[in-house]
Amino acid sequence: MGAKAITEVRELFVGQVPLIFLVMEDHGVLEVYWPLVRRCLRERKAIPEDAIIHALMVVLSTRCTNSYCFILHSYFLMGLGFTQEEIYTLVRELTIPPRIEGHARWGKIIQYIFMAQQSPASRAKLVKALRISTTPQEYEEIVHVCIAMRALNAYAEFFYGEVLSQEDGLIYGKDTQISLPIPDLISFYTRFAGNGSSAEASSEQPVAIICAECKRIKDPSGDWYALEIALPKLAKNTLFTHGFCVPCYERIEGELEQRER
Ligand SMILES: [Zn+2]
Repeated sequence: MGAKAITEVRELFVGQVPLIFLVMEDHGVLEVYWPLVRRCLRERKAIPEDAIIHALMVVLSTRCTNSYCFILHSYFLMGLGFTQEEIYTLVRELTIPPRIEGHARWGKIIQYIFMAQQSPASRAKLVKALRISTTPQEYEEIVHVCIAMRALNAYAEFFYGEVLSQEDGLIYGKDTQISLPIPDLISFYTRFAGNGSSAEASSEQPVAIICAECKRIKDPSGDWYALEIALPKLAKNTLFTHGFCVPCYERIEGELEQRER
């Protein structure tokens, strides 16, 4: 039954089958999930850059409660020439390295997508910003990626023990050697990304909101301070999450209204 799908997976991932697809095959559901992934990675036209798609997937996977998707897409990004540090910067600052074509525009688009998922209160506004910043074809492909990532994340969470154990850190089967600093990626993920959903970590680690536009930081009293001023005052283990400060939010809103006229 799953023979055609597994052949396509192997073709797309140059001879390898990522563990998550093997687990799906075992459970007899690969046929259901595979078309979602194929549509993002193989049938794409409006967003030709693989680096952009995997960057988006890495960022979206930080909303996941397991590290598998994050590691898998980091692996693909490293295959496309990203350094580990560039992946960390992508996740922390929602920016794409300048050597990637259209990095400024796509960085902004990734910010809108990430924040639309992060803050339901301003979702409608952010989706509007996203629509204005993209062509209808790009927007459609972005929606496909978000749907596929959500489905895969949910699946990986449910079958967490089979897809990834922290000790193994495998993204392929046990017989495959890969040279990826997986322990580093896992500890980065656990420190940065997994914390949003982990009560254990958030109770001991302070969280600061950083404005995605101007990089100012919100202090506990609600005031916004320049990064250089706020940073020395923050605990070393502070976690960052993105938002908009009031002036930036109002400016974006004004820009959107103008463009609508
Ligand atoms: Zn701001």
